[in-house]
Amino acid sequence: MEQKKTEAIILRTKDLGESDLIVTFFSSIYGNLKGVAKGALRSSKRFVNSLSTFSLVDVEFRERSSGDLVLLESCELLDGFPGIRSDYNLLLRASYMVEMTEILFPSNVPSSEMFQLLRWALGSISNQQNADESMISFQARAMKIGGFGINLSTCSRCGRQYKGEGRALFHPPSGSIVCLGCEKESIVTPGIEPDTIHALHRLQSSERPLSNRLECSDNVVRELKAVLTSHIEHCLGKRLKSAKYLYPVGCQ
Ligand SMILES: [Zn+2]
Repeated sequence: MEQKKTEAIILRTKDLGESDLIVTFFSSIYGNLKGVAKGALRSSKRFVNSLSTFSLVDVEFRERSSGDLVLLESCELLDGFPGIRSDYNLLLRASYMVEMTEILFPSNVPSSEMFQLLRWALGSISNQQNADESMISFQARAMKIGGFGINLSTCSRCGRQYKGEGRALFHPPSGSIVCLGCEKESIVTPGIEPDTIHALHRLQSSERPLSNRLECSDNVVRELKAVLTSHIEHCLGKRLKSAKYLYPVGCQ
């Protein structure tokens, strides 16, 4: 089988016997793959210091004639994002990002845009630059790339166009805004300010560069967190495992 090479981020590793490692990685070209790194648990020059979770690597692999696992030939570390390991809250955020990537992009669904987003987000929190706001940017953009962007242009009930002015509501079951004429504000349909809708629009737009500075008021940041958390749980049909640990420590 032909040897392939791609940049990738290590999502998970698991011991296999005494010397091998099963490695799950999200690659720039081929999406989510799982492979065997033979001899990685012994000292191996082919994988030196490169197979840690969250690391950005250059990986060479071959597909095998049978089974789902590819065979890792070599792996070179490009960036280990060491800042992530220095802080438990950053580790939780990175785990959340990895979990969301795996759910949105299971095996055989490549997305170089998602790879670039994950790479940016891990780098951003590793540098400890506004981790909270990096997380919001990641969540909004990841959902959009995964095909779950929030509809911000029309009320999902009456179809009325949102003209960018006035308070609206977020309706999680439809992943959309609704107008105040169609629904009442409540815990399940929280109100959102125009600034929050504009901010979400910017975050979802792939033409806008990613930023760890949202330049929004505290209230907008609070509303963005509430909308995105609710939207993600509704779309993915569950609360992410890592989210259980994130919420109690007030990261979201
Ligand atoms: Zn309406």
